[in-house]
Amino acid sequence: MALRSPQQFIESLRDGREVYVRGQRVADVTRHPYLRIGIETAAVDYRVAQDPQCGSFAVVEEDGEPISRFFQAPRTPDDLLKRRELIEHGSRLCCGFPPFAKEGGGDALNAVLVASRHADKGCETNYHARALEYRRYLYKNDLSVAIAMTDVKGDRALRPGQQPDPDHYLHIVEERPDGIVVRGAKAHLTTGPYTNEILVLPTRNMTAEERHYAVCFAVPANAPGLKMVCKEEPYENRNPFDYPVSARYDMIEALVIFDDVFVPRERVFLSGEHEYATHFVEMFANYHRVTAATYKYPYLELMVGAALLMAEANGTARVGHVRDKIAWLVLYAETVAALTRSACLNPTQDPDTGMVYPDPVTSNAVKYYFADNYHAAIKAVQDIAGGIVVTGPAEEDYRNPSIGPLVEKYLRGSSKVSGEARLRTIRLVKDLTASALSGFWEVTTLHAEGSLAAERLAVLASGDLERYRSQARRAAGLGVPDAGRT
Ligand SMILES: Cc1cc2nc3c(=O)[nH]c(=O)nc-3n(C[C@H](O)[C@H](O)[C@H](O)COP(=O)(O)OP(=O)(O)OC[C@H]3O[C@@H](n4cnc5c(N)ncnc54)[C@H](O)[C@@H]3O)c2cc1C
Repeated sequence: MALRSPQQFIESLRDGREVYVRGQRVADVTRHPYLRIGIETAAVDYRVAQDPQCGSFAVVEEDGEPISRFFQAPRTPDDLLKRRELIEHGSRLCCGFPPFAKEGGGDALNAVLVASRHADKGCETNYHARALEYRRYLYKNDLSVAIAMTDVKGDRALRPGQQPDPDHYLHIVEERPDGIVVRGAKAHLTTGPYTNEILVLPTRNMTAEERHYAVCFAVPANAPGLKMVCKEEPYENRNPFDYPVSARYDMIEALVIFDDVFVPRERVFLSGEHEYATHFVEMFANYHRVTAATYKYPYLELMVGAALLMAEANGTARVGHVRDKIAWLVLYAETVAALTRSACLNPTQDPDTGMVYPDPVTSNAVKYYFADNYHAAIKAVQDIAGGIVVTGPAEEDYRNPSIGPLVEKYLRGSSKVSGEARLRTIRLVKDLTASALSGFWEVTTLHAEGSLAAERLAVLASGDLERYRSQARRAAGLGVPDAGRT
């Protein structure tokens, strides 16, 4: 079985996993109305893989069978570009939500494949062979996989080894001949409640004293001792007229608690080699920040389109400041798209595995640029739309026979646009910029896939600062110590 149907994916989630929503244990996640929306969104990854029109970018062949592109170990810029196309397509189908059945997990898998090889070289371990075998297991069974990296972290001013509660970073509490036992919790696990597999990475650098925190492994989502506490359902209602995006799609995160979970040896990809913890983190970021900006581009398309529709409905489409804002929105969206393409077109090739990863500086630059400008984009769309976005009526008012015709009459703006069309546009703008959904994206944009500070640090770590320095030295007449680099 190399490609599963959406239905097979959904059925595989009935496995006794321990998931909680608002204090209640969920007996069957596939029948829970809130989780079901996230599950249907994730299932889009499976639908796309079966769509013949998407075959060129969604599916590759391995062992003579079609497998998901997400499990391909990329070796060329084209591999990265096709993967990018797949992520963008899935997100466009879900109005800016990535299905995320495999997107983040695939990034983590690639990172583990590269970083485990380097750990083996430095420490004479055999993690890479295990990672290869795990990859084979994922694609042979077409499993969904989530990435659990972010520890709960306790007091942010203290290192993992200094925390009053040692469990505030996930760590190894017992070594056994056949595996390890881990304890701790990872926050914000996207799709965790409805994924098959959870791939766990360290979240930061570790010292020699913290080596039991330097751990990378994979477990099934129903592993004994693993408990997931879902975020509260944030939405006002799930009516697609009133909330055209958030009523239909979702991405649900959970706090995932590892209450002494046993991990068999063959699923452990780092276990104590503290000097490689950062390498796993950085390699994941190289892949994942391009994924992040890629899946967000369709949401930007929606924002530009909603601003255009709103300006047309209001009769302001030709007003100077409105046109300026729309031009800025287009520049913003297309710069994001171009940078993700550029990161894939100019990858770095890892000499030990032959795998490629997106250019680290551009990868971090695009995630940073996207996040740094997002709130300004929201402001531009809100400005164009007007206050009606937060004061306007709902579908029930429009459908009420005694008041509906008056709503139609008084909600008309431009004579070319009906009251209903303007109301639908208002509701779309509300959903995108002034709802629980938009609040979710504002925070997600800043923090998910790494906060702004993380991207700045990554750019300083991976950028060729010496090249800039040399140019300045030459311009200033200071001489260039390493002329070969200029
Ligand atoms: C919707 C969503 C989905 C996510 N999905 C996943 C997922 O699937 N898997 C996963 O592993 N993670 C996931 N994340 C987590 C994401 O990567 C983190 O939110 C991000 O790394 C920031 O960590 P934090 O939320 O713990 O914030 P914090 O670490 O609490 O940071 C808050 C602020 O404090 C600053 N700060 C923190 N510590 C320090 C310090 N020591 N020195 C200076 N400044 C500091 C940060 O820069 C930031 O400005 C998700 C997040 C969101 C919002």
